[in-house]
Amino acid sequence: TTVYAQPGTEGSKVTFKPRYEHWIGGQWVPPVQGRYFENISPVNGKPFTEVARGTAEDIDAALDAAWAAAPAWGKTPVAERALVLHRVADRMEQNLEMLAVAETWDNGKPVRETINADIALAIDHFRYFAGAIRAQEGTLSQLDDNTTSYHFHEPLGVVGQIIPWNFPILMGVWKLAPALAAGNAVVLKPAEQTPASIMVLMELLADILPPGVVNVVNGFGVEAGKPLASSPRIRKIAFTGETTTGRLIMQYASQNIIPVTLELGGKSPNIFFEDVAAAQDSFYDKALEGFAFFALNQGEVCTCPSRALIQGSIYDRLLADGVERVKGMVQGNPLDLDTQVGAQASNDQLQKILSYIDIGRQEGAKVLVGGERNVLDGDLAEGFYVSPTVFEGENSMRIFQEEIFGPVLSVTRFTDYADAMATANDTLYGLGAGVWARNGNLAYRAGRDIQAGRVWVNQYHNYPAHSAFGGYKSSGIGRENHLMMLDHYQQTKNLLVSY
Ligand code: NAD
Repeated sequence: TTVYAQPGTEGSKVTFKPRYEHWIGGQWVPPVQGRYFENISPVNGKPFTEVARGTAEDIDAALDAAWAAAPAWGKTPVAERALVLHRVADRMEQNLEMLAVAETWDNGKPVRETINADIALAIDHFRYFAGAIRAQEGTLSQLDDNTTSYHFHEPLGVVGQIIPWNFPILMGVWKLAPALAAGNAVVLKPAEQTPASIMVLMELLADILPPGVVNVVNGFGVEAGKPLASSPRIRKIAFTGETTTGRLIMQYASQNIIPVTLELGGKSPNIFFEDVAAAQDSFYDKALEGFAFFALNQGEVCTCPSRALIQGSIYDRLLADGVERVKGMVQGNPLDLDTQVGAQASNDQLQKILSYIDIGRQEGAKVLVGGERNVLDGDLAEGFYVSPTVFEGENSMRIFQEEIFGPVLSVTRFTDYADAMATANDTLYGLGAGVWARNGNLAYRAGRDIQAGRVWVNQYHNYPAHSAFGGYKSSGIGRENHLMMLDHYQQTKNLLVSY
């Protein structure tokens, strides 16, 4: 087994600076008001660096830098821009373990995830958009004998991006890669719970990205996020976070008539049809793995399959086998490559999850496994760990309707197809869903009938760069990933020419 050394100790891949300022115009810039806040590692519950506490003045400075950089970056030949993104991807790849350990220390998620998923996917996103932008073409059509209609793509200019704490680097890159490929300059605000790994990334890319093309202002939501999202000097705001915050972002954006992309909350159903249990084979085994996926990333995933819907005829058996699977999950030191479930990202999040576990019990739901804080040994005792928890209850309960954002699964049964669809869609949200069935027709039909932007069939938690991702209903507006993202970061210019 491999256990990575803790940052700051001998042999560690990462050395965090004792203090991070903002990253503006390609250099460190102290906050105008001179204030900093502590960044705590969820792995051991202790502060490890302090970070600039940004305000409107810092956002203004970052916007100045972005406006200065945007024209040249927007006019850089596409092939050259693409090359910059490839260089970014290469640099990240050369430093994959270092970035993975930084992300784990900042967020609490296991290194096996940050190495194999978070950072690996982020690298591929840069490569994907570096390729996509080169393949993009305008259109030209002859309207009549003496008129031609041309369509061109232009960058929007300067855009704002605000990200959450559950996948700090990956959510940053989902937003940065298409925006940069399309020729925009960016001001990004990371989440206050997990600012450090993005700053490590900025430092790593300092000699590759032209100064001012990416600017990062740290700080809290209302102090730093709001002045960014409501600034008349951005041409778009992209946001990932809670649905309640998304409503505010739309209000701010409405003042300036700018487009929004919102990736918000979810309460995704994971549906198991009865033929799943027709044989005790590798398919059934894969379905059980799918059942346990609610604990991936400690449940801090907007698409967390937090509701399992199981057909009545196989309910008892699949639930019993699923709970056994959950009991076998390894929770522990996130720096250990064998660890499957790590720490929640913050103490606030830990407390929120524990309070939902109480709510579930009060509502009369039954705890089948977990249901408490997990206190690890030694110096990780103060870390923010929750045992993966499975509840049995009814879809009307709060633990089935409200986003917990923790390793908490709520399980209920359905009778037939119509009941499955009605229960799956009985939610405010519509981000992700899982369907497990051997019968391809049934699976396909369910995939079409579920009101969600992403439905995984006989798999879950796969996020390729070329597949569109986003929500129906209160889960958001717009999509991320896929070629279509380029349109979200570009103006379309139509030129009608007569001669
Ligand atoms: P949050 O909305 O509290 O914070 C997200 C970001 O918004 C942070 O950077 C925060 O500082 C900033 N912010 C907060 N208030 C703001 C304001 N008034 N103006 C401007 N910025 C503000 O969400 P969170 O708790 O950090 O993240 C968890 C949420 O994110 C969950 O609800 C989850 O479902 C969602 N999420 C969605 C997706 C998706 O793609 N749909 C992905 C990841 C997370």
